[in-house]
Amino acid sequence: MERDQQLTRDIKEYCKKIGVDVVGFANPLLFGRYPEENRPYTFIDDPKTVIVIGFHLYDIVLDAWSHKEGEGVWSHQFADAVVEQFCHRIRRYLLKKGFNSRVISYSPGLFLKEAAALGGIGPIGKNNLLITNRFGSQVRLRALVTNAPLICGEPITESKYCKGCNICIEACPANAFINGKYVKEKCYIYLETHKRYLSDYTVIECNVCIESCPIGKNRNVLP
Ligand code: SF4
Ligand code: SF4
Repeated sequence: MERDQQLTRDIKEYCKKIGVDVVGFANPLLFGRYPEENRPYTFIDDPKTVIVIGFHLYDIVLDAWSHKEGEGVWSHQFADAVVEQFCHRIRRYLLKKGFNSRVISYSPGLFLKEAAALGGIGPIGKNNLLITNRFGSQVRLRALVTNAPLICGEPITESKYCKGCNICIEACPANAFINGKYVKEKCYIYLETHKRYLSDYTVIECNVCIESCPIGKNRNVLP
């Protein structure tokens, strides 16, 4: 299959124009190791590219969750609402160029940080999160699957940033990294019991493993 260099450039430029901070393209053939419901083929016929985009969490408030009065579920994440809109704009852009795509939900969905690493955006660090060169782990991710044949990035399997570093592991208040492995249950218990309330209906959860990572902290970027 021939991949389209000009279209790849156009998408990158469009992403930049609308405010997407990070973008990468992954080959759907690389998702075979994941459960069927988390593979690109589940979402559209003949997928040619997984587009992963990221939005820089330049202010902690963007990482807040909210819920409606009377409902217990934390249902709305501010940064996610922004990045989801970016996805829909990219979908419409591709549609105008004659390509089909689908914005992927969370469940069932793709494993986003793994998709980003497969697309060459960055590695998964010891903090169990994607690390980007410019923003460290301070990005909120989303993805689309499309039949547009874009040029895909080189998968990244190892974190060059983490060699000799343990900052995030030592900073975790829940000691949720045991022998270097992230233990979800320990993390989740801490998240549930240590919410920071911005208002009755808006909270920020622990993000020490995001904030403590020094990668991308020396950048000089405007929000
Ligand atoms: S704080 Fe250090 S070990 Fe943790 S993810 Fe960042 S670079 Fe890797
Ligand atoms: S979110 Fe907080 S508790 Fe969970 S792993 Fe990160 S630092 Fe630890």
